[in-house]
Amino acid sequence: MEADERYRALADLVGAENVLRDEPMARHTTFQIGGPAELFVRPQSPEQVADVVRYCHEQGVRLRAIGRGSDLLVADRGLRGVVMQIADNLAHIRILPDAVVYAEAGATNEEVSTAALGAGLSGYEFACGIPGTVGGAAIMNAGAYDGEFAQVATSLRCVTPEGELVDVSAAQADWSYRHSMMDERGYLVVAATLQLAPDDPEEIRARIDDLTRRRAEKQPLEMPSAGSTFKRPTGHFAGKLIQDAGLQGLRVGGAEVSRKHAGFLVNADHATAADVRGLIRTVQERVLADSGVELHPEVRMWGFDDGE
Ligand SMILES: Cc1cc2nc3c(=O)[nH]c(=O)nc-3n(C[C@H](O)[C@H](O)[C@H](O)COP(=O)(O)OP(=O)(O)OC[C@H]3O[C@@H](n4cnc5c(N)ncnc54)[C@H](O)[C@@H]3O)c2cc1C
Repeated sequence: MEADERYRALADLVGAENVLRDEPMARHTTFQIGGPAELFVRPQSPEQVADVVRYCHEQGVRLRAIGRGSDLLVADRGLRGVVMQIADNLAHIRILPDAVVYAEAGATNEEVSTAALGAGLSGYEFACGIPGTVGGAAIMNAGAYDGEFAQVATSLRCVTPEGELVDVSAAQADWSYRHSMMDERGYLVVAATLQLAPDDPEEIRARIDDLTRRRAEKQPLEMPSAGSTFKRPTGHFAGKLIQDAGLQGLRVGGAEVSRKHAGFLVNADHATAADVRGLIRTVQERVLADSGVELHPEVRMWGFDDGE
């Protein structure tokens, strides 16, 4: 009954065609794992994002945002409440004067780096192979190959947990390694302004090609995963610790420690979220026993008893 009412209220806000019930999260995560979301909404504008946030806030409904689901492990039993996707439904990119790029939060990092290349603008190459959205990158200050989101973002358009549209400056965003104010306070990101720099398109393209090649050589991109499963422990590399502990190829059910890059746990054969969760625990225990270093997941785990 309650679910029907919520469905109708959300359908009024964003259109019935943009609200799905019991939508399998396996369709929306790069792990290709995850049970159904009770309500799955795809707002078509920043104003609709704010409307949905305000509704959930007022009704006390749990709301989670996702982009491309490339950093998520969703429990097999699924998620109660509302999952709001900000992906290709909110993904315009505009090239502005003075090497400024305005990107809606659902644009992928690849789309932004390609648009920047097309305009002869450098600075976003680092992110070309990070398979998430601008919103996801802003939330956790995504980074790779000495670049990170905080180096290029000058401001964000956000929705507060109460449903107000606000501008957030880079200083207010308070970025550090995989951290932001928005993540801490539950702000949603609807757009970002990036300051890039003019450069020779041939050189930009060469850098993108080089990073793409390096990723393909080292990472198991042919297998479903959520990238590096663990955060970088101070003074160490998670992948090296896992490799040194002899864990490559270790399996729990269909989840496996990648043989190509030990830092990646992959969905090798119809893995469940419980398999991946079990493998994460085993890796943590074995690495702690082997090296004395504690590994903390970088992947976000949703819908588990002891998690969110
Ligand atoms: C093969 C592979 C390689 C990867 N390489 C890297 C890498 O080099 N560097 C790196 O940093 N990461 C890497 N990742 C991890 C992942 O791509 C990044 O963390 C990415 O930033 C997540 O973006 P997303 O849109 O998929 O977010 P999701 O996974 O959908 O969500 C992740 C978190 O961000 C929040 N979120 C998403 N969108 C919004 C929004 N608009 N507003 C508010 N909150 C939001 C979600 O609530 C969730 O807490 C890799 C992943 C894979 C699969």
